[in-house]
Amino acid sequence: MTTQDGLLIVGEDLCEQLVGRQQAFDAVQSVFGAMANGGARNFPVVREALGYADALYGFKSGFDRDGQVLGVKSGGYWPGNAEQGLTNHQSTVFLFDPDTGRLSALVGGNYLTAVRTAASSAVSIAQLARKDAKVLGMVGAGHQSAFQLRAAAEQRDFEKVVAWNPHPDMLPRLAAVAEEIGLEFEAVSQQELGAQSDVIITITSAFEPLLMKDWIKPGTHLACMGTDTKGKMEVDPALVASATVFTDEVAQSATIGEAQHAMGSGTLTETQITPIGAVINGDHPGRSSADEITLFDGTGVGLQDLAVASVAARLADEAGLAQRATL
Ligand code: NAD
Repeated sequence: MTTQDGLLIVGEDLCEQLVGRQQAFDAVQSVFGAMANGGARNFPVVREALGYADALYGFKSGFDRDGQVLGVKSGGYWPGNAEQGLTNHQSTVFLFDPDTGRLSALVGGNYLTAVRTAASSAVSIAQLARKDAKVLGMVGAGHQSAFQLRAAAEQRDFEKVVAWNPHPDMLPRLAAVAEEIGLEFEAVSQQELGAQSDVIITITSAFEPLLMKDWIKPGTHLACMGTDTKGKMEVDPALVASATVFTDEVAQSATIGEAQHAMGSGTLTETQITPIGAVINGDHPGRSSADEITLFDGTGVGLQDLAVASVAARLADEAGLAQRATL
């Protein structure tokens, strides 16, 4: 991809057409590895309440020297959008040529955010879940949950999905996805979900624990994906403190991720949280026994967005499908 031919514009439809789950998985796994070995770093996140339209707005930026990807995702959350037929979460990725600083691509970020978040929990399942996992537990049934379910289902030979959501009327949509991919589906209580699941994904906007420590059976892998802001919480801090904790980025896990509460109460320290990239790179063994409870705190980093956006830009360029413009 060269900036000499002008700026590439890659729209939402094209991203959806070109970036599948496997491409997103590979891009996210690779950048997590680069983050852990110092080849890529995220810059401080800006996230502000605008005091207008109830919107939250911010930037996530970073540089992947190994992958030669520099850029920023800009966007946020506009709660009134749904009434206008628009997605509440809105984002756009700007990619720059790392050699010159020139803008090289403008890429729609809405679909890519969902597929890269699902790739993150999928990478954690691939790296940390028991190989014989059969039951997948889903806590959450919103926009992200279907992406999460589809990506997770490809990581192990699952036979069944059990699900719980604070708003049960949202569950049939998730049941339809499970049916489409050939998995049995059962709506269960939170306790039953813990008792049956070998792998659990949480993807809600909760501010209180939805799963308690005593409900989770030995050997479970949890991917906690909803907590990405100070104050949010999806699982019992005692569960986090008793699990072996992995994350995308330790600094975010400790401050805005699921680990923030166990850290705040002094039952977990930063040194007990391992970047998943260390497992990917072979520098940490990952799961150490069949009975260990592993927990991935997926906070969401800008480098994930840049990684999948650069795949979209490259594929669109190679296929001659992207629009070109000059600034
Ligand atoms: P959504 O609005 O479509 O769905 C929200 C989900 O949370 C539903 O399951 C809903 O029942 C539940 N919920 C809503 N209010 C709740 C409350 N007060 N307590 C408990 N549960 C509640 O949202 P989505 O797009 O599916 O996103 C889900 C969460 O994932 C959000 O909190 C979002 O910020 C987070 N997220 C994280 C990442 C990441 O990289 N870690 C990326 C994208 C989204």
